[in-house]
Amino acid sequence: MKLLWGFVSLAFVVGCEEGKKILDQGEEERVVEEPAQVPTEPAGGENDGSDDAIAPAPQTPASSPGIGPTDPPYTTEVTFPSGLHLAGLGTVSALTATYPDPASGLLPFATSRQRHYAPVEYFIDIRSLSDSQRERRVATNFKLNEYVRIPERNGDHHIYIDAEIALHAQQLRDAWGGPLVLTSTFRSPEYNAAIGGAFFSRHMYGDAVDIKANNETMAFDLYNLAKFLEVSFLDAPENTIVGRNTPWLHIDDRGWPLNTPDTR
Ligand SMILES: [Zn+2]
Repeated sequence: MKLLWGFVSLAFVVGCEEGKKILDQGEEERVVEEPAQVPTEPAGGENDGSDDAIAPAPQTPASSPGIGPTDPPYTTEVTFPSGLHLAGLGTVSALTATYPDPASGLLPFATSRQRHYAPVEYFIDIRSLSDSQRERRVATNFKLNEYVRIPERNGDHHIYIDAEIALHAQQLRDAWGGPLVLTSTFRSPEYNAAIGGAFFSRHMYGDAVDIKANNETMAFDLYNLAKFLEVSFLDAPENTIVGRNTPWLHIDDRGWPLNTPDTR
């Protein structure tokens, strides 16, 4: 097995890329998201930012340039809503090769959607991130480490984090008005399969997050708030909330609006 190890270098610039996704017709969702990983992290992992020593960067509105779908094209860099810019993402051909083939006939969507399931081509090597880099924000209230520590705990060293889902997680946090805890971010295809994740889970593409809810009421509140964000997909309450001892919210930005409010 040949591995092409990537490297990661960091610089901090304000993103200026073009590209907000074109919204089009929704389709029926048949992928059932798997239970979230048991959150072992304390709720204190998320900060309010009031003690943030980093100069605040302007939050990029969803409609502004700089945040858009990257699935595909994947590139060697990503700029988050905070302005945090990661460059030098590297190829890991052996990892890319583990992604399911969207043309296999197993993708439960129209052929035109296959392009959104192109295997991730460039990854962040989380072993190259310093502690101070991990403390940087991807958005006002979320540190890079909050997206990194979960796959790291799961044994994944190369990950991808989509800027658009980082924006939507922050917008949901803003709407909620208090700390939110991420319980699942990126998953490698191998890890996703090991825990029984959906075959084409968006967690593998770095644009899905699961958010912990303390109880069913909080979960429904988050669900209803998220309905008004421009996320591509919200997993159904019967899959993640109803009857669950540890309910959660799954949101993702798979590249087209599957069940956003205007297409519901
Ligand atoms: Zn999920």
